[in-house]
Amino acid sequence: MRNRDRSLEVETALCAVARACQATLLVRRQTLGATASLAKEDKSPVTVADFAAQAVVASALQHAFCDDPLIGEESADALRSESSAAMRREVVAVVAKALGTPVSESETLAWLDRGNSKGKAERYWVLDPVDGTKGFLRGGQYAIALALVECGEVVAAVLGCPAYEANGMREPGIMLAATLGHGAFELPLHGADTATRRPLRRQRIQDGARLRMCESVESGHTDQGVAAQVVAALGMQGAALRMDSQAKYAAVARGDADVYLRLPTRKDYREKVWDHAAGMLVLQEAGGVVTDVDGKPLDFSHGVALQKNRGVIASVSSEHGRIVEAVRSALG
Ligand code: AMP
Ligand code: MG
Repeated sequence: MRNRDRSLEVETALCAVARACQATLLVRRQTLGATASLAKEDKSPVTVADFAAQAVVASALQHAFCDDPLIGEESADALRSESSAAMRREVVAVVAKALGTPVSESETLAWLDRGNSKGKAERYWVLDPVDGTKGFLRGGQYAIALALVECGEVVAAVLGCPAYEANGMREPGIMLAATLGHGAFELPLHGADTATRRPLRRQRIQDGARLRMCESVESGHTDQGVAAQVVAALGMQGAALRMDSQAKYAAVARGDADVYLRLPTRKDYREKVWDHAAGMLVLQEAGGVVTDVDGKPLDFSHGVALQKNRGVIASVSSEHGRIVEAVRSALG
């Protein structure tokens, strides 16, 4: 399992995520589609970009791995009603532009429907087409997060962060990829080619006080008050870096931050697999450690939710034990 060659999966995922990133950028720059949003049942927003990105990735996976199920965050149901006809047309236009070929409404809806799997198969893909939709809408960070799960274990992952400004790159936008047991690398989103791939390897931290913490912008997604107590208890300096989406995993993997805390705000909330699968593998393969707040590994064998876990602590490996202890005492 650990050492199997999955280069075809990773290369396919990189192409799919790059195209999905372009789809979201068309919407964000208002070249095509509007950034208006619909509210889902849980009141969270969904935009033309979320639907278009899911359709683009699903179409690529259908071509390359037609038997693999896909758990995508979005459902096409909301798009089928008469009242969402305008949004549906915009989604189709964005998908056509991103794929570089005309597509029909029925094809687009069928690709979206491919994301309806619930994750009980031995092998399946997990997709958050626009993770951090609130960040996408407010001009902040967001991510296209795609991961492959086999026998309950995340084995390959690609994270596209179209708004990430990395030092030394001419334009914002990076992609990060990882394969279980084979490490992680990053590349620029624009003009990406294999020659520009850079291995990701987190160094040990020499001075614990210099740890930099990152967390959600949304106070409903993490307990920022408890996180501040943890920061104080560990003697960490500097303000928390707040950003939306799994770009936080990217920040730790590439050394822009050292700790990502996601501390439960509600007893009954269970993290969703699409919010963590890709980011977790990228960081682990870059040498970091990811657990829940109790120090347990994230368990991806329970369908769409991390039923057996609470919250997330992701960090450089040398400091992880100390951070788990500090979180444990802050949570009481
Ligand atoms: P972030 O951008 O890190 O704030 O995370 C965005 C994700 O938070 C969304 O994709 C939601 O699935 C997820 N989410 C929604 N409600 C909660 C909650 N109460 N606790 C943690 N995550 C949540
Ligand atoms: Mg998400």
